[in-house]
Amino acid sequence: SVKRDGRNGTAFYSRSMDEVARQRSALENDLRLATPRGELELYWQPQRLVADDTLIGFEALLRWHRPGRGDMPPEDFVPTAESSGAILPIGAWVLRTACTEAAKWPRPLRVSVNISVVQLQQKDFVEQIQAVLKDAGLPAARLELEIREGVLLSEQEDAILALKTVQGLGVRVALDDFGSGHAALGMLRSFSFDRLHIGRSVVKDMSRDAGSLAMMRAIMGLGRGLKMPVLAEGVESPDQLKALRLEGCELYQGYLGGRPEPVAAYRRLLQPAHSPAC
Ligand code: C2E
Ligand code: MG
Ligand code: MG
Ligand code: MG
Repeated sequence: SVKRDGRNGTAFYSRSMDEVARQRSALENDLRLATPRGELELYWQPQRLVADDTLIGFEALLRWHRPGRGDMPPEDFVPTAESSGAILPIGAWVLRTACTEAAKWPRPLRVSVNISVVQLQQKDFVEQIQAVLKDAGLPAARLELEIREGVLLSEQEDAILALKTVQGLGVRVALDDFGSGHAALGMLRSFSFDRLHIGRSVVKDMSRDAGSLAMMRAIMGLGRGLKMPVLAEGVESPDQLKALRLEGCELYQGYLGGRPEPVAAYRRLLQPAHSPAC
């Protein structure tokens, strides 16, 4: 909130606007340099079957070790990276690193990569996916792209076409964070997702709030009707998992099934001989 009292008001106002603009351009500049400087890292979070906890894959989650500022969560920099265009080199790094890493795993688990709509708008998006899969030696069926619901995507025919083309290659496409943000029902008609991810806010309040439970059931109904398996995000407690099982939800992800960690933390889980702990 900006104070505008007396004669100093204007000066204070422009100084604070300068400060905001300065911080923003510093962030944009640091973001542009983050990839060449090697400040990015991927963390990995398990995705599991609700029925018996079987590990089916990992989601790659971006971490930025910003010099002098510690770790910055993606929510604090992805929007700026999207508006400044820095998301293109960053997203390309994420895709390449995630696929290269997954190709080395001793088990053929799936890798999920978050893709910004800005990346989808690139003319050569499909070619990039093909090149990365080929270079990494990763079968297309092991890659899943997670696309966040957005009001605009349903109107972007080129982006939808790109998604359909990569799907034709055998890559899976999931709708991420369904139910947490903008209504994406229109999108469900323009594109046939392989999976729906229910956002954490819906899952979190499911047991306490009738509205969230109703929403969860509606999404489950949509998933069944459209033949799209549903993954619940942000599952933290055994009670939540039990509720999901009762609702017929197929997949889950959350602290209960494993936190996002550097790949070294999951080395044992990646072994073929691994049998699930009791
Ligand atoms: P998302 O794709 O929905 O990822 C799940 C987020 O929920 C992650 O946050 C994860 O750490 C968090 N999470 C998982 N389980 C739990 C839980 O049980 N409880 C709680 N409270 N949180 C949980 P994170 O890593 O901070 O990422 C936030 C968002 O940033 C992601 O949401 C995704 O939309 C975006 N993001 C992350 N990596 C990338 C990337 O490489 N590219 C792009 N474009 N966006 C990314
Ligand atoms: Mg995601
Ligand atoms: Mg997801
Ligand atoms: Mg989410």
